[in-house]
Amino acid sequence: MDKTRPEVWFLTGSQELYGQEALAQVAAGSQRLAQALEGALGGANLPVRVVWRPVLVSKEAIRRTILEANAALECVGLIAWMHTFSPAKMWLAGLTALQLPLLHWHTQLDEILPWDTIDMDFMNLHQAAHGDREFAHAVVRSRARRKVVAGSVANPATQTRIASWVRAAVAYADGRSGKLIRFGDNMRDVAVTEGDKVEAERVFETSVTTYGVTELADAVRAVPHATAAALAGLYGDLYAVVPELAPGGARHDSLIYAARQEIALRSFLVETGATAFTTNFEDLGGLAQLPGLAVQRLTAEGYGFGAEGDWKTALLVRAAKVMGRGLAGGASLMEDYTYHLVAGEEKILGAHMLEVCPSLSDAQPSLEIHPLSIGAREDPVRLVFDATPGPGVVVGLADLGDRFRLTLNTVAVIPPDQPLRRLPVARAVWRPDPDFYTSAECWLTSGAPHHTCLTTSVGLAEFQDYADMAGVELAVITEGTEVVRFARELRWEAAYRRLAGGL
Ligand code: MN
Repeated sequence: MDKTRPEVWFLTGSQELYGQEALAQVAAGSQRLAQALEGALGGANLPVRVVWRPVLVSKEAIRRTILEANAALECVGLIAWMHTFSPAKMWLAGLTALQLPLLHWHTQLDEILPWDTIDMDFMNLHQAAHGDREFAHAVVRSRARRKVVAGSVANPATQTRIASWVRAAVAYADGRSGKLIRFGDNMRDVAVTEGDKVEAERVFETSVTTYGVTELADAVRAVPHATAAALAGLYGDLYAVVPELAPGGARHDSLIYAARQEIALRSFLVETGATAFTTNFEDLGGLAQLPGLAVQRLTAEGYGFGAEGDWKTALLVRAAKVMGRGLAGGASLMEDYTYHLVAGEEKILGAHMLEVCPSLSDAQPSLEIHPLSIGAREDPVRLVFDATPGPGVVVGLADLGDRFRLTLNTVAVIPPDQPLRRLPVARAVWRPDPDFYTSAECWLTSGAPHHTCLTTSVGLAEFQDYADMAGVELAVITEGTEVVRFARELRWEAAYRRLAGGL
């Protein structure tokens, strides 16, 4: 699912005033900086090309470059830096035309100021302190969305912050060409999984379309037995298969059926070009099992998924998976399920009926079969595991009727207090920031969903940038959050969104 190497275009501003010799030095310096940044991002396991563009010294060149970037499908965003002073009226037309994420990188070529040799030539060449202030004003005047990062390329904090932004930009670009397919509608009568699919396509640019589950059921039936049996055999190499599902076991046929579902579902996703999908246990048509193992394995490959027709969560899971490419940890559909409420030990046990993604676990999952009382089908096969402890975020996307709201809670995934010997589903246990009470009260105050994306690959920084790129509110519950202030910020945000949205 990672076929192309995304590009970030590196724009350097200057002006004609300094003469050709100085502009040649600006070009050489900015090329060196672009290369150093590409190296740093590659070192952060982020295979992005930083494409250096010729130094910009005129309004026409700036506008043309930005229009080219808009049209370049492999370009996920622009990084702009003013090596020298660049009179910023000439940036206004280009910035107004910008349709891509912009990172204004406020930096300087070298960290050391040569105190004993510095002269006016050096000052003229290295004046981002001056030029970036002028540029930033034009960005504000043009109303372009952007992130500002200040710091040198050698500074690990700068590298991390730019990498987070690039990860968000890659996910945002993926969403813009994304295709989400749904088998069945939303679970009957559920409110928060509903939403405006037209608005979702306008905001995230991901299409949300439905296919009849009968088409999937037909495809499952059409998978040759030998193909499914071969895949079922492969499961034995990957998972701890319970004896009843193993070859020769009494329920091996159920495993072959699950393999059949995986093969058919994968083909369906490939043929439709889908990046994410949903199912609904209330609408299974001719499917003999609610897809569990198939969903788990496909999400581990990078597909987004939401259960019960929850396409908004599928969209988020997909975004988290793209943001987290190359990083440790994983991302999955999650559901706040039940609590341990002993004072001082409060924690949340999250799970779902089947479909939690095994990317959340470093350990070998167990492949099991158990009854499922809902769905009225045969017992479904599923992977069972505990999410590996570590820092993470829980993110939910709600449709408030007039706009979308993302709500994010930073959490610590922790081990369960005791082995969950009788729980037949994959699960995660976490302690939310800043504490259980503040977290739960803020989450409910926000009207945020019970379905979420839990990711341990990326965090607040990436989602903040992603939300800004999409122009969507992000309500954050983290260290220092207080319920009263959080509620007040929601009201301010509502007013801001109403004003910013125009009439
Ligand atoms: Mn659910």
